[in-house]
Parts: sequence; structure tokens; C-alpha cells
Amino acid sequence: QETTLTQNKPSIVEIRNLRKEFGNAVAVEDLTLSVRKGEVLCLLGPSGCGKTTTLRMIAGFMEPEAGSILIDGREATGLPPYRRDTGMVFQGYALFPHMTVEQNVAFGLVNISVPRKERDARVTEMLELVELSHLAKRYPRQLSGGQQQRVALARALAIRPAVLLLDEPFSNLDTQLRVRLRDELKRLIVKIDVTTILVTHDQEEAIVFSDRIAVMNAGRLAQLGTPSEIYETPASAFVANFVGECTLVEGQIENDIFTSKRGLTLPLAGKSGGATLMIRPEHVSIGDGPGSIRARVASAVFTGGVTRLVLSMFGEELLMQSFFRHSKVPVQGDEVNVWIDTSCLHRLD
Ligand code: ATP
Repeated sequence: QETTLTQNKPSIVEIRNLRKEFGNAVAVEDLTLSVRKGEVLCLLGPSGCGKTTTLRMIAGFMEPEAGSILIDGREATGLPPYRRDTGMVFQGYALFPHMTVEQNVAFGLVNISVPRKERDARVTEMLELVELSHLAKRYPRQLSGGQQQRVALARALAIRPAVLLLDEPFSNLDTQLRVRLRDELKRLIVKIDVTTILVTHDQEEAIVFSDRIAVMNAGRLAQLGTPSEIYETPASAFVANFVGECTLVEGQIENDIFTSKRGLTLPLAGKSGGATLMIRPEHVSIGDGPGSIRARVASAVFTGGVTRLVLSMFGEELLMQSFFRHSKVPVQGDEVNVWIDTSCLHRLD
């Protein structure tokens, strides 16, 4: 599902063996990653895994203890932020409160000594791009959260950076606005075709926004891949659990039959031996048929669209989710027949 657009593109940011410590604590360890020209790459991981630290090292607000960062073929470590050819949108936007919208957008251009006339032209162009021309003379406090985000974006893009850096750009917004702005921002990034590195702890945001995702855990790269690779074939239990809900079942594969430790059996071709299976909630459905398994509904929670169920079978607790007509929603204690789409199961080693 990887966009053919970026698949064969050269890399524009090369991170090699990056390391950052704070006192005795290692925040980023041996991180190697390359970002391709034109792609949107997301650094995804739980709080404290080192994503922001990585982004700050790319931007130049922090220097690594070891390793290197090449931006557009040039060693960037040691260079001040404004000489790295990156534009950054900070968490909370960090607009200058005493400057108008247009002064904020012009800020980075002053730093790199763009002549006055060219500067004015670029500010006009950027404000048009983010559709804020009519608010050019306002101050940040006179803007909504979404408008402030667009000013921050215009400021970051005004210098025509090789790489756009976004630090949790949607975390300050309420859910509805977040989804709308996410779609808008994605469209804008595609339109201007700028390489983008995004930091988020929100797996859904990462999946809808990115061409590739770098999942980080405790300062290290846990997996790098497209959203579907990460979701469907996670490299570890950590990644499987972090990018979506799932049930992990441990057992043995023998003669193309998987048998869980507690006795649940499923047909599954593959190498014999110990195996952990990942079952996503949408791979389980209720219905009769060959291979269906008797289960008891341990809990059922209606979430608006779908209902989330915990099914109990052979001592295993399996998550499932599905849409049910109101009159057909199973309730706790129901006995049901369950079918697992074994063609979707992923084996973790
Ligand atoms: P979050 O999503 O919470 O921002 P993160 O993945 O971005 O988390 P970082 O902010 O990169 O994580 O932090 C990684 C680790 O480094 C954490 O354990 C954090 O406490 C530590 N850390 C970050 N900045 C500093 C600092 N300036 N001084 C000391 N420790 C720091």
C-alpha cells in the first residue's frame, strides 16, 4: 500500500546511530533511520520513548551525544536550527504573542536574510496557502486554535524548508477539530509535496497521516514500515499492542494446526514450533459455519458505531468488534458461535 510516489525516492534525512542521554538516562539509543524525499514519516510511540528528543535533534534544538544527521546530504549536527533547512511546528505552536500574523510568518525569513520585497511576497503567498490572508494584521491571541496552527504552519513553510517537522500538531485541539485539521493538513502537505516528519503518540493519527511509521520504544526503533505493514504484521508484541487492539494467544503449531496453551485450536499453516498469534478484533465475527467455535460473551460495550466484545473460549479471552443492529447486540452471558478469519492471523516470533 506504500505510495509509489516515495518508494523509489532518494533519502533526504539520514539519521545514523543517534544517541542522546540526560544524566544517566538514555533518551535515544542507536537510532538509524532514513526519510525519503516527499514522504510523510511519523515517529510514533508512548510517552517518554524519545520521539520529541529525536525531532529536536533533527531541528537542531538539541545536540546528540553520538551519531549523525544528514539533511539533504549535508551534515547537520553542529549547525544552528535556522541553517538546517527545516521548518518546525511546535507543540502549542509557540507563536510570538507580540507579533501580528504576518510578522510571525515573516520571522524565519528575516533570520535567513531574505530581501524585503521577496519576504513580503512569500508572506502573502503563505497566508493564501493556509487561507488566512484576511487575518494578517491580527495577533495570535485573537485567533482560534485551528487558526493559530495554520499560522505556525505558514511560518514553518515560509522558508521553503527541505523538511517540515511537526511536534504533536493536533494535541491541543478537541476531537472534532483534530480530525478536520488532520485531513486539511494532510491535503496541504500532499499539495506542496514537502517531506514531513511528524511526532505523535496517537496510533490512529499516525496511520491516517503517514506514508511510513517509525515505532519507537524506550529510545530505540521498534519497527519501520507502512501503516498496513505495522498494523497487519507487527514485528513484536509491543508494536502489535501499541498500534491497535489485539489478543495475543500463545501456543504451538504442529501439522498446520495451532493449539493454544489452554486448548483452543485453529487451522494455521506454518513452521512447527512455539508461536504467538495476534488476532485483531475485526478478524473475529459471530456466525455459524465450518470451523466456528462456541464462546461465551464475557462483556459487550456499545461504542456508538461498533460494539466491542470480550469472548471467552477455552479459557482464552478474545477481543472482537462488529456492528450489530440494536436488537441483535449480544449481551453478557450469551452463548455464541464465533468464526476467526485465520487467513488474517499474524504469527509473532
Ligand atoms: P512525550 O510524548 O511525552 O513528549 P517523547 O516520546 O517525546 O514523550 P521525549 O520527550 O523525547 O519523549 O523524552 C525521552 C526521555 O528523555 C524521557 O524519559 C524524558 O523524561 C527524558 N528527557 C527529555 N528531555 C529531557 C531534558 N531536557 N532533561 C532531562 N530528561 C529529559
